[in-house]
Amino acid sequence: STFADIDLGDAVNENIRRCKYVKPTPVQRHAIPILLAGRDLMACAQTGSGKTAAFCFPIISGIMRGPPSQRQRGSRTVCPLALILSPTRELSIQIHEEARKFSYQTGVRAVVAYGGAPINQQLRDLERGVDILVATPGRLVDLLERARVSLQNIRYLALDEADRMLDMGFEPQIRKIVEQMDMPPRGERQTMLFSATFPREIQRMASDFLFNYIFLAV
Ligand code: AMP
Repeated sequence: STFADIDLGDAVNENIRRCKYVKPTPVQRHAIPILLAGRDLMACAQTGSGKTAAFCFPIISGIMRGPPSQRQRGSRTVCPLALILSPTRELSIQIHEEARKFSYQTGVRAVVAYGGAPINQQLRDLERGVDILVATPGRLVDLLERARVSLQNIRYLALDEADRMLDMGFEPQIRKIVEQMDMPPRGERQTMLFSATFPREIQRMASDFLFNYIFLAV
């Protein structure tokens, strides 16, 4: 199978060609059609499996096909359409770099925010608009408390390396973040959970955050 067999749209397919990806990896081959069909997904996938593209491609193509993001009028609060949570600054930077490559010339804008670095540049990046926010949980809670980000328009939520986020003690922040998304008026949200392992705590997160989900182990 090739990427051309998957209906991601011309712009994303062009970016896949630019990245010189010829063949989807197993997680991509299975996860992308599930996500394009709008289903929630719990995927057990390791680093190096190509999981970043597996969630980024459907998110970008879904954003391109849906209504544009809106700004809260007269305020500095931005309302991204997609949120990708990751455990570390390094992983967030890496996901953001990939998301930017995959969304080249699509009009979809990705911004990254992580802790352990000054917030001012990140605030300026956010102010220029954001469709896809890649963030670490602690920094995102800070941005929510400052009312610089609102999660009320989130249509796609991806939790990457969820087991590592739990190991690092981020569960309270993650729950706080998801609670904000669940506050009315809440729209339809598609949620995808990626984890290398599937212990009881991750199973609990999956049943708390996902709706009628498909389980994928590659
Ligand atoms: P990840 O597991 O998302 O960290 O991806 C691991 C590496 O594989 C990254 O450097 C990706 O750019 C690369 N990659 C992802 N998907 C493909 C693909 N279909 N073909 C070739 N390389 C890929």
